[in-house]
Amino acid sequence: MATTTLTKETPSNGKKNGSSEVDTVCSFCGVGCGLTVTIEDGVISKVKGDKAALSSKGEACIKGREGWRYMYSDRRLTRPLIRKNGELVSASWEEALDLVASRLSEIKDESGPDSFGVFSSSRSTNELNYLASKFARSVLSTNNVDSCNRA
Ligand code: SF4
Repeated sequence: MATTTLTKETPSNGKKNGSSEVDTVCSFCGVGCGLTVTIEDGVISKVKGDKAALSSKGEACIKGREGWRYMYSDRRLTRPLIRKNGELVSASWEEALDLVASRLSEIKDESGPDSFGVFSSSRSTNELNYLASKFARSVLSTNNVDSCNRA
């Protein structure tokens, strides 16, 4: 577990502020439950339902209450991985994006644009969903785009 994470509660000079609570909205799904996050010495220590949130009135499922722990996992990927000779190796973002772009172009040329389907996550914002739609239609030339965010 990391011991220091820069948060809104941690000044940029790295000094820690002690304990505080921040109300926010869970981003794990589209329900939008209110959460209260406890931050101690710049590190999240607890998340609970926000009783003042009209949408959830203090309730939160396991994802909202415990899902934050991945932030401090030492297994979290921090760099792209590219498979080379059967092995996943660390790569730069530029190299990874170039590879994705060239493979998408190859697939589009070989199999046509409707061989693609673009699905955005329920955790995506409206803006990200819009970009996913634009990417599908303008770059991949397909209308095969969907999201579980739609009503
Ligand atoms: S707490 Fe659970 S139900 Fe509420 S927004 Fe988060 S993931 Fe969705």
